[in-house]
Amino acid sequence: MEKEIEDMKDETCIFCKIANGEIPSETVYEDEMFRVILDLGPASRGHALILPKDHYKDLCQLDEKVAARIMPLAAKMGRAMKESLGCAGFNVVQNNGEEAGQTVFHFHTHIIPRYENGPAMVSWTPKTAQPEELKETGEAIRKALS
Ligand code: AMP
Ligand code: ZN
Repeated sequence: MEKEIEDMKDETCIFCKIANGEIPSETVYEDEMFRVILDLGPASRGHALILPKDHYKDLCQLDEKVAARIMPLAAKMGRAMKESLGCAGFNVVQNNGEEAGQTVFHFHTHIIPRYENGPAMVSWTPKTAQPEELKETGEAIRKALS
């Protein structure tokens, strides 16, 4: 497994270098599996990125043991942000694929503090789903899962 992960690692991956301490970053948390850094282009004060130290391109490649630790770590970071920065809440955002807004192809999770009267950031315009469309879409996804 270790070897497979090593094979996936791209020597030019900037987040591999940051996560493993080869490039300096504003690190707010570190353990044997993750480094959490402040984003250089923050959506709000305290915007942080959870970086696994091993390279995974996106969520579909992510090891399950690593995945299992991300939400608890996101909660820990969110709690610390509320206490230290006084944010009212926070968003957990994770992009997969260029069309979904992913720009760095080393899996990462955004923790974005949200402040009272702050700008709307993570939003979409809801459409009205037709029952037939929901049924067809549901069938297509269920088929892929079976
Ligand atoms: P995504 O669009 O989900 O791939 O997010 C990539 C994020 O990484 C963006 O929010 C960038 O501002 C941030 N970013 C890119 N390079 C660096 C860097 N060297 N240090 C910190 N954050 C970075
Ligand atoms: Zn990487």
